[in-house]
Amino acid sequence: MIRDYAVVGGGIGGCSIAALLNAHDHDVVLIEKEPTLGGCASTFIHRGNRYNAGATTISGYHEGGIVKRLFDTVGVTPNLIATDTAITILQGEKSCIRYRDLNRFIEEMQRFYPHPKHDEFWRLIHALQGAFYTLEASYSYSNRSRLKKIASLLSFFPLLKTFRRYLFSNALEFIQDFYGDIHESYLDFLDAQILIVAQATSEKINFFTAALALGYTFNETHYPLGGMVAVCESLTSKIPDVRKGCELLLVKREGDLYHLTTTQGIIHARNLIMGTSHYESSRWFDDKEIRDYYASFEKRNNHQSAYVLYMKIKTDTLFHHHYQLISDSTLPYTLSKSLFVSFSDPSDSDFASGYYHITASIHTDSRIWLGLSPSRYKTQKQELHDLLRGWICDRLSIQSDEIVESFAATPKTFRRYINRTQLGGNAMTLSNFLPLLPSNDTPISGFYQVGDTSYAAQGWPGIVMGAFNCIRLIRG
Ligand SMILES: Cc1cc2nc3c(=O)[nH]c(=O)nc-3n(C[C@H](O)[C@H](O)[C@H](O)COP(=O)(O)OP(=O)(O)OC[C@H]3O[C@@H](n4cnc5c(N)ncnc54)[C@H](O)[C@@H]3O)c2cc1C
Repeated sequence: MIRDYAVVGGGIGGCSIAALLNAHDHDVVLIEKEPTLGGCASTFIHRGNRYNAGATTISGYHEGGIVKRLFDTVGVTPNLIATDTAITILQGEKSCIRYRDLNRFIEEMQRFYPHPKHDEFWRLIHALQGAFYTLEASYSYSNRSRLKKIASLLSFFPLLKTFRRYLFSNALEFIQDFYGDIHESYLDFLDAQILIVAQATSEKINFFTAALALGYTFNETHYPLGGMVAVCESLTSKIPDVRKGCELLLVKREGDLYHLTTTQGIIHARNLIMGTSHYESSRWFDDKEIRDYYASFEKRNNHQSAYVLYMKIKTDTLFHHHYQLISDSTLPYTLSKSLFVSFSDPSDSDFASGYYHITASIHTDSRIWLGLSPSRYKTQKQELHDLLRGWICDRLSIQSDEIVESFAATPKTFRRYINRTQLGGNAMTLSNFLPLLPSNDTPISGFYQVGDTSYAAQGWPGIVMGAFNCIRLIRG
């Protein structure tokens, strides 16, 4: 039997495009190596305890938001609860809550770090991110041919026209000019938030990208009941053929067909959509054109990755869903001064009642972890585990006897489970901008790519934007 579409990888990208294809009545098979869907946005069980592997929060599910549009198109409703306060940020002895309401947040900023320019600055951020999402549906981006690429880039003209002042300004310089005098700790505060969305700090990106990153909490953010895996499960629930525990081993291309050798047999398909990272997929192909295609993007690989600490605690203290801890200096073995800490919701019956399950992540470089001797790796992993655990306990007043268990994942762990060490996709920096980045179509007939290393970006909204782009390119 020859399938119309084979989608490899059940992360956000693979699940989104497979669900869209199915919703448009295309024949599709989705394969995922692991026994559960989700990839970086999955949920796993460790010694009987449930944890979100990486992603913990969803943005873009507000009315008119792109993630909501995806679920509406597919005809399913994920089990989410809205979170306000979006993030509680702890820096030094101070704390700041990212309220969704703009006026309330500006008041909070004045208390946290008084400055006469806040009102103007945060209103600009609010306006830019609001305006971007009203234009978003008209963009498309193609890499199929030079002509198609140029034509697709023209769709960004309204964006360029409206926002050129911000698109061509370096974010750090813009912020410094805007505020006049600005303390390093306030820049750290901004950069910590910019980094978790844009995957780069203000010195490397344009101000428009920084504004989108700083402004995302002005939209609703959501907590997934049952863990992030439940969101991918519901997204794919109407697809008749989802194969979990099915690993792609080799792809051969013959004429118009792709032949996939997997751990569950051979799949023949007219079109192949890879939901795996651009930087770590070439190994499954013997086709030179496809290997060359992947090689052409290798220089975009920033080797950025994540170190994740998981903790289960038993406590009577009430916690918010998300905290960001900011330090004065970059933490050892990492690329960042900040740690993003997420708590399970006490009402979430899929997590043990009376306990919190914590996922805390920090940016690192995969090269800090790969190629170490086993003993050095173990020591380094333990050192960072102890440091981060101590920091969380100290800042959030968790007692050591409240901790039931804690353990960590490094880029090596992600490689073992989901076949990738580069995490977080492409940072859209001033030297790594759209015409240079991979699209969802390719110059190779029937060969597509979704996920956070393709257009548009990482995380739920960015990847879903790419899936919509992909289906538009497929359907013409
Ligand atoms: C620590 C961390 C925290 C994050 N927090 C958030 C957050 O709170 N909110 C948010 O929106 N985003 C967050 N992100 C970003 C987001 O999680 C990722 O951008 C997104 O999940 C990536 O999805 P993807 O589909 O591109 O790829 P992946 O998640 O990598 O999915 C690829 C899938 O392919 C599978 N696969 C690999 N090889 C094979 C093979 N040979 N055969 C079959 N299947 C294969 C893998 O198992 C995996 O499931 C976070 C990322 C990290 C790392």
